[in-house]
Amino acid sequence: MTPKPDLNEAARQVREIYAEWQRRPIDRACTGIADCCRFRLVGHTPYLTKGEALVAARAWRAAGRKDLVVPADGSCPFLHPQSGKCRIYDDRPFGCRTHFCAAAGGPATRNDVRDLIQRLEAIDTRLGGSGSINLPTAVRAALGWKS
Ligand code: SF4
Repeated sequence: MTPKPDLNEAARQVREIYAEWQRRPIDRACTGIADCCRFRLVGHTPYLTKGEALVAARAWRAAGRKDLVVPADGSCPFLHPQSGKCRIYDDRPFGCRTHFCAAAGGPATRNDVRDLIQRLEAIDTRLGGSGSINLPTAVRAALGWKS
């Protein structure tokens, strides 16, 4: 029988990847204006590996929430409807840290992120995943995992 993956260890490794990204001397400046969190507006939804979804789901549960509802305007379900802030900011997925946001410096280059993405993909494989899926679907699945 295949051993059950260690979800605590997977979450630790994902957070270490996020921390490593933040330590890199790459000029990024997320100002939290959250335009990139309005998926329909920008025409882009982040895709998450299983480890990223696990970390986001844990942050959501830690805030006392169980369900993930996509707002009618197509924004990210983690975006606070009144404050316009990310409600899991410290545990936001990798793509939210590196993707296209012009105000934050535009997309990170492939060279800047390749090794970290490979590590996220390796964790995804260990957790039984087969590649990134869109944020709401990935996190809803992770909310159902027993840890
Ligand atoms: S997880 Fe947070 S930073 Fe990422 S799109 Fe959603 S609200 Fe924005």
